[in-house]
Amino acid sequence: MIVVFDTAPRGLCKQTMGSHLERLGNRFSIPIDVDDSGYLGRECPVEKCRGYFKITPGTGKQGPAPCHCPYCGHSGDSGTFNTQEQIEFATSIVLRQFTDALHKDLKSMEFDQPPRGMFGIGISMKVTQGERHPIRYYREKELETEVLCDNCTLRYAIYGVFGWCPDCGAHNSMQILTKILELAKKELALAASAEKELADHLIGDALENTVSAFDGFGREVCQRKGAEIRFQSLSSARRRVQDSFGFDFADGLRPEQWEFICRIFQKRHLLAHKMGVIDDNYVKKANDSGAIAGRKIRVNHEEVTLSIEIVEALGRRLFDWILPPMP
Ligand SMILES: [Zn+2]
Ligand SMILES: [Zn+2]
Repeated sequence: MIVVFDTAPRGLCKQTMGSHLERLGNRFSIPIDVDDSGYLGRECPVEKCRGYFKITPGTGKQGPAPCHCPYCGHSGDSGTFNTQEQIEFATSIVLRQFTDALHKDLKSMEFDQPPRGMFGIGISMKVTQGERHPIRYYREKELETEVLCDNCTLRYAIYGVFGWCPDCGAHNSMQILTKILELAKKELALAASAEKELADHLIGDALENTVSAFDGFGREVCQRKGAEIRFQSLSSARRRVQDSFGFDFADGLRPEQWEFICRIFQKRHLLAHKMGVIDDNYVKKANDSGAIAGRKIRVNHEEVTLSIEIVEALGRRLFDWILPPMP
């Protein structure tokens, strides 16, 4: 990546100053290096965003393409996404080149006229250089989530978890959801070979992760389009999505699948907030014929496997309707 400056210093006529300044020209291209992990820092030019993120040059779309801010979605020429620190660094390099050339030109004008005759006055000019102009070095910052865009293969890093791909503009929420569901499947696979107590814990944990990932995902997707919707209670989320976006995200499910996934979400509520003990609310709402208040809830491997499949399908439906990838 290169920062380009066009300069035309006012008040200085280069022709009269000499050859070094003249040779510098009016255009400076300062290369900006990537960090140790191959990332180049970027900063959103929108004043109220100024979001910082990093990309790996050479991955993602080939050829010149606009850059998208992962946080606010602003898109613009990639040359406008230099960070303040990169600009200060490049400016300091230009100023050093400029002051060094100026020094050389002045140096070449040195003269020493010794005094002549009895009352003569000698004149001389000696140019000495003080400190050279300092270079403003910087370090790229550490970020929180690394993403490999599954739409365009750009490798990028952001604060938080969710964001738009800086290259292709696709939102990463479906990709993140899929990744967490993959981890939940791995927990289930581990549970299959673990002793009972650990297996129960892993299965419960896989369910919790599935539900909280779907909740985080659903909120993010809706929020990007200005709606605040929580997804821990599926039936109210279904109504609210219908009201806000005019479609039914569960229209691909059969009624018994819908009933099943709602019950599983209620089981997860007991696991997360009631130490897994069935309460009256669950007995009333979950349509679970074997449930007795005060007893422990049971969640098995197959139920969680099926839940992951359904959650993925619901997520895909929400994503494709609300945040379809840009063409
Ligand atoms: Zn932004
Ligand atoms: Zn992408």
